[in-house]
Amino acid sequence: MKKILAFLLALSVILAFVGCGDKQTISTPSDNASTSDVEFKKPDNYASVVLVTINPEVRLYLDENDKVLAVEPVNADAKTITKELELEGKEFKNVVKEIVTSANQNGFIKKDAEVNFKVEEVKSDKVNSTELLNTAKETTNTVVTELKIEVEIKSEDKTHTHTFSNATCNEAAKCECGEISGKALGHNYVDGKCSRCKAEDPNVKYTSVKTKNGSWFFMFVANDRLHDARLVLSGAEIYASAGLGDNIKNFDGVMLPEELEDCIKFNGETYRVAMGTGPVPLKSVTEDGKTVTATDEQGNSLVLTRTSETTLKVTSSPDVFSEYDGKIPVGTVLTFNAN
Ligand SMILES: [Zn+2]
Ligand SMILES: [Zn+2]
Repeated sequence: MKKILAFLLALSVILAFVGCGDKQTISTPSDNASTSDVEFKKPDNYASVVLVTINPEVRLYLDENDKVLAVEPVNADAKTITKELELEGKEFKNVVKEIVTSANQNGFIKKDAEVNFKVEEVKSDKVNSTELLNTAKETTNTVVTELKIEVEIKSEDKTHTHTFSNATCNEAAKCECGEISGKALGHNYVDGKCSRCKAEDPNVKYTSVKTKNGSWFFMFVANDRLHDARLVLSGAEIYASAGLGDNIKNFDGVMLPEELEDCIKFNGETYRVAMGTGPVPLKSVTEDGKTVTATDEQGNSLVLTRTSETTLKVTSSPDVFSEYDGKIPVGTVLTFNAN
């Protein structure tokens, strides 16, 4: 009985030894490299994950400083590459460079190839996924230029949802991350101006003010007095005139109904226009492109800019112009009324 037990013990020791030997064979490093089914283990302390797809597809685990902690080959082509490269511990952009170069050397980059970067996960505030993708795209661009190959570079940020601004005449819809959607709208010129942004049509040619038969009307207040004014800039008689009105808050007593009829509201105040300057001749009107200069008999010049076929804007104003009581504010708009 004792002998049998000893034999069994001896047998189990031998079996155990053989078992151990088997395990040792599996875990030798030389075997590891050739075994394709070694399970990948995520590093514990990664900060972001970027999937690179060429056709070799690798998943890179990065730390907060964009250093590659681990490389997970996702498909068989990726194993060809990762087997020959030592990528762990290197900077992200260098790893991108090596992967693209190796993919090309191994014949994976064919005609119409795409290189796609996808940020799959971000675990730290220090990681800027947009910058990460920009680095990847710029690096790839540099590498493929050096290698004289053509690829389409794409990127996607799974950790961020784009919020696009509305497109404008000059700019396409844009997300704060820098991603652009569609194109700028371009201007929609109507009567020399863009209907959206009011930009001037650079190609528009306005009719000369000297040949436009009518008057340019405008209103302005100077010294608490309203000027309901007009300029005539064409024809044989060029002149300035204005109806003048004082602010009714300065009136004493009660307004008569016919006096009320003379009242004009301007910028929230009411003025009773009861006087006028009459038509006072101007000395000259000159025109240079969109700039119109009206000069009075005393030599004071009012400079106006053509803002449309039927509008002028005061861009420079003397302290005194013609018979007007006070300076015409810069920015005042004159509107044309045909005769
Ligand atoms: Zn975005
Ligand atoms: Zn526009």
